[in-house]
Amino acid sequence: MSLVEEIGEQRGLLLARVAEAADSAALEQVRVGALGKKGSLTALLRGMGQLPPEERGAVGRAANLLRDEVEAALAARRDELQAAELDARISAEAIDVTLPGRVRPIGTQHLISRLTDEIVEVFRGIGYQVVDGTEVETAYYNFDALNAPPDHPSRSLQDTFYVVDRSGDAAAMAGESDVLLRPQTSAAQVHAMEERELPLYILAPGRVYRRDVADPTHLPQFTQIEGLVVDEGITFGDLKGTLEYFCRQVFGPERRTRFRPHFFPFTEPSAEVDVSCGICDGAGCRSCGGTGWLEILGCGMVDPNVFGHVGIDPETYSGFAFGLGIERIACLKYNVPDLRMLLEGDMRFLRQF
Ligand SMILES: [Zn+2]
Repeated sequence: MSLVEEIGEQRGLLLARVAEAADSAALEQVRVGALGKKGSLTALLRGMGQLPPEERGAVGRAANLLRDEVEAALAARRDELQAAELDARISAEAIDVTLPGRVRPIGTQHLISRLTDEIVEVFRGIGYQVVDGTEVETAYYNFDALNAPPDHPSRSLQDTFYVVDRSGDAAAMAGESDVLLRPQTSAAQVHAMEERELPLYILAPGRVYRRDVADPTHLPQFTQIEGLVVDEGITFGDLKGTLEYFCRQVFGPERRTRFRPHFFPFTEPSAEVDVSCGICDGAGCRSCGGTGWLEILGCGMVDPNVFGHVGIDPETYSGFAFGLGIERIACLKYNVPDLRMLLEGDMRFLRQF
């Protein structure tokens, strides 16, 4: 067989193999078999040097043409195969976008948390700082420092949860424990008066505990916000103005407030604050028990004895304090008839807010 014939035969063979290659890997094998170091076409081209000079021109041209033709065929087939492989991958990995999505319910803030934040924001807007307290406290910070001596009724086992040592300590088991679940957040205020620089404009929100049986108007655990101001020249007028501002911000600008004298051990004078009923606007209706007013918080001027416990000079400084239950405010604001509904976790009820 002449070399030119051999080139013709190789041509037919190689182009057929290129066309038959079923995937990229098979095509690569064809390429190596023809154009690799030990490839058939490479060997053919290498043999060119041994030809007599008069044959070299024609055979060389034919061989080079064949190499170009095979390279072009390889490139074209490679493009074809890659496109086909990409199509196959796209259809294999395709996601059916017509399937309905899985809806995950989005949580929202509980009414109590939201209202707490709302009230904190009102006071933050007029310069108050938030202080944190612990839910387990000592009797000193809860009662003694707040002017409630050991014989004060609120200290009794009937009103407060004491943390009793069950290890066998006879005194602790007899109910003389000094550690309790805080019945109000006031202890945080005592800590703040001891630790912080004056003047103080602080707010103490958090959970508190009382030995009450849960009923429409009582809960054994609820959320309280207490406020305390200590500065020079603070008067009852400042207290009134601050709480009137607060009531209008939370209940609406048209609501009126009234202050009724009351007694608390840690304030003197003390008052309870009512806001005008939002349903009858003061005329008297079933929600307000016919009085036209709703009781919302307790307040008063800090008793000088309380200042004495924390080393603040009552001749220079004066202040006021107030406390309110968030659950109660929530019920008044949204006409919820029973405090327990706020804790039952019934989504049909909670979703309304
Ligand atoms: Zn009313």
